Amino acid sequence: MNKKFFKLFTVMILALALTACSSQAPTREAQPQTKNQSAGSSEAESPEKDASGFVSLAEAVPDVILEIRYYSEYNFVGDRIDGYEEPCALISKEAAAALGEAARDAEEQGYMLKIYDAYRPQTAVNDFIAWAEDVDDTRMKEYFYPELDKSVLFDQGYIAEKSGHSRGSTVDLTIFDMSAGKEVDMGGTFDYFGERSHPDYVGDLTEEQINNRNILKNIMVENGFKPLDTEWWHFTLENEPYPDTYFDFPVSEDSIPAA
Ligand SMILES: [Zn+2]
Repeated sequence: MNKKFFKLFTVMILALALTACSSQAPTREAQPQTKNQSAGSSEAESPEKDASGFVSLAEAVPDVILEIRYYSEYNFVGDRIDGYEEPCALISKEAAAALGEAARDAEEQGYMLKIYDAYRPQTAVNDFIAWAEDVDDTRMKEYFYPELDKSVLFDQGYIAEKSGHSRGSTVDLTIFDMSAGKEVDMGGTFDYFGERSHPDYVGDLTEEQINNRNILKNIMVENGFKPLDTEWWHFTLENEPYPDTYFDFPVSEDSIPAA
């Protein structure tokens, strides 16, 4: 597929995702994430299925844009990821409350939060691992890891056996400029495997791009989230309620118990 067609295809996929989500929430869709939130120690424990501490992000924080990339095919794998059954975002109640505050702060500065991913089931992480082990499948290399040989993704921490996202209080996001009607220029795309994704990367970034990264970071840090030093889009609630628990229920509104 050439680039032009690919872009068109992507737009169509996102439009589909938007349509599918709009019945649930006043907002839209979201996206992916990758790398290295390797987990701590408890490798042997089986994943937790109890979603009673979680909420639908679009319901808890209506003023966010969702662009769930792992539900779409526009992600580093090139397929919908296992465990993503709807283009929705689930998150712990505590993280949702903090994100609500962050959304308010963003709005005061003329932005909306645009969410790429939140809670990520262990099933999805396992799908990433299976993809990473298949070194011949490089269909999205051009977009997400042009500088890297796929064989180094584990060693360099881009793919790990566990993700902090599975603990339910981590979010991948950017900010959307309401007056310009588009997301801000961060000088690098979500889920790009490389140094330019480091929040403090300078390289060839413009002052505006650096400033945009700082605006996002400040909004999140001031509302209780901590950044990651390898991904400008990734934030974890400082006082996350399930620091040692890795969940595995589908990303679907149906996973959330009725209130
Ligand atoms: Zn992330």
